[in-house]
Amino acid sequence: MKNATATRADGRDLNQLRGIRFINDIAPNATGSTLIEWGNTRVICGVTIEESVPRWMKDQKVTGGWITAEYSMLPYSTHTRKARDINKGKIDGRSQEIQRLIGRSLRAAVDLEMLGSRTIWIDCDVLQADGGTRTASITGAYVALRRALLRLIKEGKFKEMPLKDSVAAVSAGIVEGRPILDLCYTEDVAAEVDMNMVITGSGTFVEVQGSGEESTFSQGQMDAMIRLGKAGVKELVKLQAAACAE
Ligand code: UDP
Repeated sequence: MKNATATRADGRDLNQLRGIRFINDIAPNATGSTLIEWGNTRVICGVTIEESVPRWMKDQKVTGGWITAEYSMLPYSTHTRKARDINKGKIDGRSQEIQRLIGRSLRAAVDLEMLGSRTIWIDCDVLQADGGTRTASITGAYVALRRALLRLIKEGKFKEMPLKDSVAAVSAGIVEGRPILDLCYTEDVAAEVDMNMVITGSGTFVEVQGSGEESTFSQGQMDAMIRLGKAGVKELVKLQAAACAE
């Protein structure tokens, strides 16, 4: 729906996602991969499935499989070069927070018992950052994961898809007092409130991260952001399904 009062920097309506596309099989040696292009944010999502589980699971006789996620920004993904963590001797706190979020999000989609004793490695590497790298990572990782699992089904390693649901993520925020969907970097910087939502295909929430930046928000504004997020994820679910079917 066109909103005549929209004045976003890139001309988008208040409730409009940036242009999104998936370039699949970008990393042929991964079990499944996609490059998600989300406006000017681009993330390589690679999924590798190993036929084993971590040692502690065997020791503690934990059944089923495991999922682990890693996130990083490539040095040239940002306007000023970002040094690799390895050269700083420790993983960046923000990256750690984001990779845990990616892991939790994908765990909501996977049936770990059905996965069997396998480990899913999800690697999200940001090629270009323009806001929303965590939401792009989660949305792309689901496509890479489903494609990886489809491949294993073809190879006869699974009879049934070990997924309970799909999962996608999007941001919303309050900029100049107005609730908007899917913040790019300049909007993220200007935002009074920033909210990231991880939502399943069936419309239930995995996680909502909302914070006021030198500002507070009302229940009404929160509800408006959630409505935007839910509608955004509905569109993402369709885009993901098309990318998985390719
Ligand atoms: N950003 C950056 N360098 C950093 C961290 C962030 O340039 O070390 C930029 C990047 O464009 C990122 C945006 O700030 O997408 C917003 O970062 P935030 O931590 O909110 O995470 P994101 O929105 O990417 O999930």
